[in-house]
Amino acid sequence: MRQQIAAANWKMNLTIQQGEALLDGVLNKAAALKPDQLAVFAVPFPYLQMAQQRIEGKQQVFISAQNCSNKKSGAYTGETSVEMLGSIGIQYVVLGHSERREYFQESNQVLAEKLDIALAANIRPIFCCGEPLDIREAGTQNAFVAKQLEESLYHLSAEQLQQVVIAYEPIWAIGTGKTASSAQAQEMHAFIRQQLAGKYGQEVAGNISILYGGSVKAANAAEIFGQPDVDGGLVGGASLVVDEFVAIIAALKG
Ligand code: PGA
Repeated sequence: MRQQIAAANWKMNLTIQQGEALLDGVLNKAAALKPDQLAVFAVPFPYLQMAQQRIEGKQQVFISAQNCSNKKSGAYTGETSVEMLGSIGIQYVVLGHSERREYFQESNQVLAEKLDIALAANIRPIFCCGEPLDIREAGTQNAFVAKQLEESLYHLSAEQLQQVVIAYEPIWAIGTGKTASSAQAQEMHAFIRQQLAGKYGQEVAGNISILYGGSVKAANAAEIFGQPDVDGGLVGGASLVVDEFVAIIAALKG
């Protein structure tokens, strides 16, 4: 089975003390992960090392950055390189979250560069895509997401693509309490997989984990994750609450 992933996205929340308590709380309470299940915690940069130390020795648990620079190194004040992340053992990075696209003007082209630089450093990207509300209302979400995939991913080799985790996050469902229905999620996930199959073949597409994001919580996770093309979730608000995220991990297919 392809990997089923519960990914927490803490965004710009919590003090380090709160982060430590949250991480320890989840790690202590969560049931053991099954062979194809992963838990990933995307924490703020200043907490990466703390978090990395706390998961030491835990199987199938990883710490992720929430962003990285598209540049290798040099005079880019305030930026964080993949080499820096690798040097503290980080193996995942979230790229292209809609908040990065919207507030920090990250384009599909810049994200293509970030994907390249992360993959070259052996850091696995969790690549986010998804449409805003007006596009959903106009019914053109498939073309919108297809363009995001094409412009950021399709220059990758099949081998590189298989390192990428995709997160479909309809922007109108992020932090709004408004979740896509499980049917809407399945429909888009199947579409994404079909697009990947068209470019890379069925076998490659069948191996890619596609996560759903947007108001996932304990109460809806099992239904959404139960869809055949949904391979877990990228979770914001509910990942900040121990019992919520523990239940979300437990809702992974396995
Ligand atoms: P949310 O955020 O779960 O709070 O909607 C999801 C995300 O932005 O990754």
